[in-house]
Amino acid sequence: MVLLVAAGMLVQGGKQRAHALEEGGVFLSSAALSQGEVGLVRVRADGRKAPSVVWLEKEIPLSPNAQKTRWVGFLGVDLREKPGIRKILVRRSRDGPQRELAIRIVPKDYGVRRLTLPKAMVDLDAKTLERVRSESKIVNRLWGEPPLPPSWDGAFIMPLEGEVVGPFGRRSIINEQPRSPHSGVDLRARKGTPVRAINRGRVELTADHFFSGLSVVINHGGGVQSMYFHLEKIAVEEGDLVEKGQVIGYVGSTGRATGPHLHFGVRVNGSRVDPLGLISMSQAILE
Ligand SMILES: [Zn+2]
Repeated sequence: MVLLVAAGMLVQGGKQRAHALEEGGVFLSSAALSQGEVGLVRVRADGRKAPSVVWLEKEIPLSPNAQKTRWVGFLGVDLREKPGIRKILVRRSRDGPQRELAIRIVPKDYGVRRLTLPKAMVDLDAKTLERVRSESKIVNRLWGEPPLPPSWDGAFIMPLEGEVVGPFGRRSIINEQPRSPHSGVDLRARKGTPVRAINRGRVELTADHFFSGLSVVINHGGGVQSMYFHLEKIAVEEGDLVEKGQVIGYVGSTGRATGPHLHFGVRVNGSRVDPLGLISMSQAILE
């Protein structure tokens, strides 16, 4: 076993444990984040002016407490982000001095999953390929939009209770061919199980796509977007404002799915992150 001691990292019993960092009114949940991980930043402010945070060249919209003295935001690290040291730029007030903190992005191997699917679902004909490309353009456009102010109602919740049968991040080998990594988690659930919005937000996409089937994407503001795929039925419309826990659809197996389950994905600042990581990190919103 190789023991590694890097900045902001503690090695205990061979287990790497990243630890939090607090400096000049800025709190980071960790000074080291893995590919696909979600971090949290909390900034103390004087209550008059909003602080600003820039992470990976993106402004991170922050959510204040009632007194506007503590602001929190999420830092997303994409599944395929280049490892290395990155800076997070923080101003405790918009016209105040800028503070730079370093975060180490650590590579993570989530393993491999092998799937065998019907040939027609993998080797696509020209017409289907064209459909897939135009659908991915529609979806990818959503990740590039400027973030909205956070509309969270406390911590994020799971969309349903169900065992994780397909973990996040696994590299996929489908019919012996390498494909894109799994960008969400697959949750076991019976067909027709209600799927709930993981927090308050606005429905920004309802669609029926080749791969993801009946799909819903919700924008929660603060750079957080959630997606729910392979639904049997959609219960909301584009533009709807949904509350945390509201039923937005029902589990199915539409699109490219081997059976009924919910594919649940999350983007933070446009980055593909482990949705379970967002949910556990969001408990700190309440602190
Ligand atoms: Zn999936």
